[in-house]
Amino acid sequence: MQALDVIVKKRDGGVLTQDEIRFFVEGFARGEIPDYQVSAWAMAIVWRGMNADETWYLTEALADSGEVLDLGPVVPLSVDKHSTGGVGDKTTLVVEPLVAACGVPVGKMSGRGLGFSGGTLDKLESIPGYRVALSVQEFLDQLQRVGIVLSGQTGDLAPADGALYALRDVTGTVPSIPLIASSVMSKKIAAGAQAIVLDVKVGSGAFMQSEAEARKLARAMVAIGRKAGRRVVALLSDMNQPLGFAVGNALEVKEAVETLRGAGPADFAAHCLEVGATMLVLAGKVSDLRLGKRALQQAIDERSGLEMLRRLVQAQGGEVEYVDRPERFPAAPWVETIEAKQAGYVRQVHAGEVGLAAVDLGAGRRMKGEQIDHAVGIVVHIKVGQAVSVGQPLFSIHANDASRREAAIRRVLKACSFSRRPVPPLPHLYGKLGP
Ligand code: URA
Repeated sequence: MQALDVIVKKRDGGVLTQDEIRFFVEGFARGEIPDYQVSAWAMAIVWRGMNADETWYLTEALADSGEVLDLGPVVPLSVDKHSTGGVGDKTTLVVEPLVAACGVPVGKMSGRGLGFSGGTLDKLESIPGYRVALSVQEFLDQLQRVGIVLSGQTGDLAPADGALYALRDVTGTVPSIPLIASSVMSKKIAAGAQAIVLDVKVGSGAFMQSEAEARKLARAMVAIGRKAGRRVVALLSDMNQPLGFAVGNALEVKEAVETLRGAGPADFAAHCLEVGATMLVLAGKVSDLRLGKRALQQAIDERSGLEMLRRLVQAQGGEVEYVDRPERFPAAPWVETIEAKQAGYVRQVHAGEVGLAAVDLGAGRRMKGEQIDHAVGIVVHIKVGQAVSVGQPLFSIHANDASRREAAIRRVLKACSFSRRPVPPLPHLYGKLGP
């Protein structure tokens, strides 16, 4: 078999066999198929697509390129969640401790920020000492001992996906449903959780800008989960405006701690209950979402979720005091609040633009490997549909540098628009698929 034949077959709209897909992924993983051929192949997939069988074969081949963890001997049933990425999405920091506090072990491997979209690892590293790089053995031991782990991708999980993703990132081949679905699910399958809740974001701050595209992606991922024998539910949730108020690493950790204390933003708290309750149902801990939400609310009221976050931070070497005294987080020297110049109703707070404004401030990376500033970011004070009066705060910009601050201010002002007439609030959820 020749790599060129497989590329040409896909370029011409052919359906690839399992052998052809394995040959290609294994050849790439062994360094025998060069980057330029893999890039051409990825571009052919972007244009021609893949059917459900091809997408599954690709997922399997990516997962099998490294170690596939079996969590069965470690915990009776472990549940994982995955967000397709967004702005202000600190859900993992709240949901994982709450679900663990309800007695369901959660072992999750998270990623770093990508473009305007934040990453859980970057947020966690705002806590001094927190170790995101754990070995497979450390991951398994902590899952068994503490019941919660939040680390970076451990060891040798789906290495072919890592290499393929890096190529896709620089060859314009990220936006493809079969490529995204297989990339996400190969990592989830390799990480071993038996039940997975996928939070598929829809809107201006998401990969999938339309509900129809998000639904197709969700359907593809749920189908893969089924083939892999995992219980999977996908939620389609809004990412047209930032989730909660805080955007930026330490600011988001503080907001997560407030939410675990019962004082988080209403939209974000509701989202955490939805995702967490879905995890509890999927894990068989409760019979329906209502009971799941009740259990999570109890974990908030009794502070057992907060205690779980303390245990997590301690287990991974972080300074636990930051959980109890979030005022210790590094603060940016300039905090400038932008106020409304006219009265009206909020029509738009473009999540992608707010995310880019946070990147302008240094909260995210413009180039791979760039250092980020954990202190900077934006607090968004408004939600779509809200009535604002003159002088009301719209955004607070937390900056470390005057020119970056100016760039961020220009961008957030462009991100929002107002209407004289009432505007309906955005829905929180657009639907649910699976199991
Ligand atoms: N996240 C991933 O892990 N893979 C993709 O292809 C896109 C988002």
